Amino acid sequence: GQAAISETPLHPRRKSRRINVGPVPVGGGAPISVQSMTNTATTDINGTLQQIAELAAAGCDIVRVAVPSQDDADVLPIIVKKSPIPVIADIHFQSKYVFQAIDAGCAAVRVNPGNIRKFSEVGPSICKAATDAGISLRIGVNAGSLDKELYEQYGGPTPEALVASALKEAHMFEDVGFRDFKISVKHHDPVTMVQTYRLLASKGDWPLHLGVTEAGPAWQGTIKSCLAFGSLLAEGIGDTIRVSLSAPPVEEVKVGCKILEYLGLRERHFDIISCPSCGRAQVDVIQLASAVTEGLKDITAPIRVAVMGCIVNGPGEAREADLGVASGNGKGQIFIKGKVIETVPEDQIVPTLLEHAHEIASQMQENGEI
Ligand code: SF4
Repeated sequence: GQAAISETPLHPRRKSRRINVGPVPVGGGAPISVQSMTNTATTDINGTLQQIAELAAAGCDIVRVAVPSQDDADVLPIIVKKSPIPVIADIHFQSKYVFQAIDAGCAAVRVNPGNIRKFSEVGPSICKAATDAGISLRIGVNAGSLDKELYEQYGGPTPEALVASALKEAHMFEDVGFRDFKISVKHHDPVTMVQTYRLLASKGDWPLHLGVTEAGPAWQGTIKSCLAFGSLLAEGIGDTIRVSLSAPPVEEVKVGCKILEYLGLRERHFDIISCPSCGRAQVDVIQLASAVTEGLKDITAPIRVAVMGCIVNGPGEAREADLGVASGNGKGQIFIKGKVIETVPEDQIVPTLLEHAHEIASQMQENGEI
């Protein structure tokens, strides 16, 4: 339950104003939401909806779909209607799709004023349409689409240049009385990204959408995202996050959820504590840990399972976990809350752990703990 969210956060959250993305609040102390973006052709309605369902099941709170053409804009009403989570239309270049997305019932629209020609002319009508529909917008800048003038003035997409661009956009919206937007200032380099968001956070109370853009394949991108989001979230900065990976989008959601869980900012789900193994190990810990993780990947209960290669640290670590195993002599001592409940032969370790984990999960459910 709620108790799994850290009661002693690393830092108080930055005070931001609140907007709504459909039923999901963003900012103003709302839980930090996890977003992702579909990579199917949006016109492939079934494929897109299937991917959205998969993302939602993995813990995604908000999904974004690309709207690069008229055909994509035309299918938005069906996608919005059938999606289990709020849909943001992602629109570059063509402002007419913004209006179509609003009419389609999208929960929010991501607009990139830097990419929309004569934005100053259409901006006010976009704000009016969004206000009338009661939806929010996301604005902001990517290092790659920074306004040419600012690029030259600052000598590149520096934190100052990106923030100057974001402020210019924010003021353009606020000058016509529109305030329901969040801002992103994305960069592919985690250090520049952190500096940029820090600077932006000091300039106003907009809710911030964190992103490391083009972070790379899963391994590199996960590390970059953990570093950048971890640094900012540990300082209380960030209201919604999107990990972007050159990998299936469900991987982005998993990484995003885990970042929040491990920072104590989201309810914890299943977690594994396993030793790296060493010369003392009496079983193949690496294989055991991955078999347990795989066997419990669908469990939603906040169970902590310890897998230890020997009895040196085993009992101590196992005490901290709901369930654990410490191996020795071709056998595994199974612990529940630090007490040995049985000793099983090595080939029975995984099935025994899985069985107990499921029992503990249903117990938690019965007791109303989850
Ligand atoms: Fe080595 Fe045992 Fe520690 Fe694992 S628990 S790292 S096997 S000493």
